[in-house]
Amino acid sequence: MNYETIIGLEVHAQLRTQSKIFCRCATEFHASENQNVCPVCMGLPGSLPVLNEKAVAFALKMAVATHCQIQPTSIFSRKNYFYPDLPKGYQISQYDKPLATAGVVEIVLENTSKKIRLHRIHMEEDAGKNVHGERYSYVNYNRAGIPLVEIVSEPDLRNAQEAAEYLRTLRSILRYLDISDGNMEEGSFRCDVNISLRPERSDRFGTKVEIKNINSFRFVENAILYEMERQRMCLEEGKRIVQETRLWDEHEGKTFSMRQKEEAHDYRYFPEPDLMPLEISAEWVSQIRSTLPEFEQVKKQRFMTQYQLTNYDAKLLVQEKSLADYFEQTVHRGGDPKLVCNWILSEVLREFEVSKVACSSLTPGHLAELICLIQKGTISGKIAKDVFEKILKQGKMPSQIVREEGLEQISDAAQLEKVIEFVVSEQGDLVKQYREGQKNKFSFLVGQIMKKTQGKANPKIVSELLKNKLEREDT
Ligand SMILES: [Zn+2]
Repeated sequence: MNYETIIGLEVHAQLRTQSKIFCRCATEFHASENQNVCPVCMGLPGSLPVLNEKAVAFALKMAVATHCQIQPTSIFSRKNYFYPDLPKGYQISQYDKPLATAGVVEIVLENTSKKIRLHRIHMEEDAGKNVHGERYSYVNYNRAGIPLVEIVSEPDLRNAQEAAEYLRTLRSILRYLDISDGNMEEGSFRCDVNISLRPERSDRFGTKVEIKNINSFRFVENAILYEMERQRMCLEEGKRIVQETRLWDEHEGKTFSMRQKEEAHDYRYFPEPDLMPLEISAEWVSQIRSTLPEFEQVKKQRFMTQYQLTNYDAKLLVQEKSLADYFEQTVHRGGDPKLVCNWILSEVLREFEVSKVACSSLTPGHLAELICLIQKGTISGKIAKDVFEKILKQGKMPSQIVREEGLEQISDAAQLEKVIEFVVSEQGDLVKQYREGQKNKFSFLVGQIMKKTQGKANPKIVSELLKNKLEREDT
């Protein structure tokens, strides 16, 4: 029998606020253990939570960007469960009245695109982190109380590839909005997969299994592929799928059962009595809507039309908003778009990670000036690469380096004729061979001339002059 795979994803993204969601503690990732804690996020008796307005603004940005309906009133609830990383014994989350519902995210696949509906987006606090040593286990509460948005999709995804593209798109939106770094390895972007199988053309959903806390895009794809096969085998053998929570073990390449799935009533949700209902005004929503940036796909299309870039090049430039901005700033300073694009995608990205280009020592001013020097013929493309290395080492402007080191390209015909004369007399044998028909000797002769001028001769003019000379004296 053929089966259809039904996948829904729950994504938790940490919001990049300076302080935690209900207290003033810092959120920085690299703090030493239990440095960023206070009575509120440690859940000490008598402490009271105060909602961080910035966290709400960030969550709202995500909800507006994904076309959700913003709820004028939403409620924080206590989700009760016991675990050492949760000092209060409950997590403050949102339950029956979330911040936003019914959104949509469009994903771009190979030759088509697909709209994935969002069920809801709500806010909650993160838990701490258990650290297991040889003999003892420890808990680090720095993460307790860091604001999260939970983004819950409808079960609209049908395979691992769609799931991966959906995750990539969500991450891109979060990063373009500058509200989350979306770093899966550091745990600021985490994903739970709900997956079930049903016979093709059936309209009833099968029993779903949840795979929790997967922390890499590749692992998500691998876990889905594995779980599709496991459930298919199970159904083929006439067994029932158990509703449960499983974990992905990348080392073994398997999912394994963690626990039978809790029902919502196991968490004994009730409204958080220490926080007021969260009210969002229409003005706030429209103010946020007016500040949304141009997102990845729209930017890519614009780059293709405005700068005549290929789909491939444009796609690479818009993968990070900061890189796309860097490209445009360089173009606005006079760099030819195609040249700027080539330089960024080759030389610049060889030196810096995609996300670090914009804050590197190589400013758009440096790159634009360098490219303008090539465009004007002041230096050759080859010399430009040496100048590029020197900018990175010395931080000077390209024109200053060219001036100080006398790297200007030699385009003066009289000056070049002299060098050509010299090389032609020195390489008599080769010249003879060329004239006898071995045309491939030409590039070697050009190479010799370039060498004599320390690469500063204008190769185009050298070619013309040399060709003339060889043909002329042949007759
Ligand atoms: Zn705190």
